[in-house]
Amino acid sequence: MTTQTSHTSQTSNAEEFARARAAMPGGVNSPVRAFGSVGTTPRFFVSASGPRVTDVEGREYVDLVGSWGPAILGHAHPAVVKAVQDAAAHGLGFGASTPGETALAELIEARVTRDGARPVERVRLVSTGTEATMTAIRLARGATGRDLIVKFAGHYHGHSDGLLAEAGSGVATLAMPGSAGVPAPIAAQTLVVPYNDLDALREVFDARGDDIAAIIVEAAPANMGIVPPAHGFNAAIADLAHAHGALLILDEVLTGFRVGTAGWYGIDPVHFSPDLITFGKVVGGGLPLAAIGGSAALMELLAPLGPVYQAGTLSGNPLAVAAGRATLDHLDADAYARIDRAAAQIADAAASALSEAGVTHVVQRSGNLFSIQFAAEPPTDYETVKAQEAFRYPPFFRAMLDQGVSLPPSVFEAWFVSAAHDDAAVGQIIDALPAAARAAAEAAPG
Ligand SMILES: *Cc1c(COP(=O)(O)O)cnc(C)c1O
Repeated sequence: MTTQTSHTSQTSNAEEFARARAAMPGGVNSPVRAFGSVGTTPRFFVSASGPRVTDVEGREYVDLVGSWGPAILGHAHPAVVKAVQDAAAHGLGFGASTPGETALAELIEARVTRDGARPVERVRLVSTGTEATMTAIRLARGATGRDLIVKFAGHYHGHSDGLLAEAGSGVATLAMPGSAGVPAPIAAQTLVVPYNDLDALREVFDARGDDIAAIIVEAAPANMGIVPPAHGFNAAIADLAHAHGALLILDEVLTGFRVGTAGWYGIDPVHFSPDLITFGKVVGGGLPLAAIGGSAALMELLAPLGPVYQAGTLSGNPLAVAAGRATLDHLDADAYARIDRAAAQIADAAASALSEAGVTHVVQRSGNLFSIQFAAEPPTDYETVKAQEAFRYPPFFRAMLDQGVSLPPSVFEAWFVSAAHDDAAVGQIIDALPAAARAAAEAAPG
């Protein structure tokens, strides 16, 4: 394994960032990477292995970003790398069908099952989560002949025009109301409702129910920090949608195949029936791949069989398919048990360290996903998330980074633990937490 690259000693993160800013807006290709809300220089990485990443200065960090989820087996997992190398040796892409795409679709269909229900009978592969949710919405509109979409404040579904209203993730981190460049008539097709508030949702359906094509929901919200669904919430919104002839789009781009074999769908305390499910992140094993799944009747409304158009030059790319298949193949019960165990250890240690330092906080959990929030009561929606003492996160984050732990650079993101987070990696994180908790305690609103 290569541990040094030729430029390791010749450049610094600051130099790389200066050069990047002169070449790319904000120096990044996705906003949260700019470290805008944590007040330090973004690290430029040159390699990664298992639970660790290495920056251009040759410093190694235990990583809790995991490429925002896909590195669930750890970085550069040998079986995934080999699968991609083998695929690459046979051609980078054909713009035509390959047997591997069918195998990946079958794998997804077989995994997403519960109590005999099998909501994914057909799959379409795309390249990003944004495309997956965008396509799911077009499909819902095509199926129902209706235009309106209901989303929840603080939920992030990618960066398509209609879904940025009060979105989480980078939109939350930058405190943006949405985005410039979205035409008002398009924004008006999205109704935004507070999360975990069934009464508010019922009011919207009472008023506009005949015009609503679908509710789109993060299966367990993770883009405003972790905010678990209230008990039975997903089932209640599925029932409400169906009672009004609308569909439920379950966005599992982040949770799918991360929190368990069948994603959040498989572990929600109450069984429910989504109509369309979107996947991304883990399903691509680190390469650009995402998917939409649903019943044959709905999915076959897509072109070429049906009238709802969707296409992609790179859709089902053989390298991405190989990475996705290898990743799912290695995500067995044992891997999830390791992730769950390491996640619980880190979450418990974070809570203890913050308590010890006298910092008001809660650690919210959805399966093996968790995040810390600087609030006295567990936030239940975007308003309560935003009301926390977010100013405590930047010094906490920087103290962890100084001690060699790379956390998500925003309080509004989940911590991603992998199956490669062994005792040494977990121990290093736990050792770093007390100093970070003290830094959070000393933080002042700025
Ligand atoms: C990351 C994410 C998306 C967008 O996926 P991209 O691949 O970044 O376009 C959509 N929905 C959820 C829930 C996500 O976490």
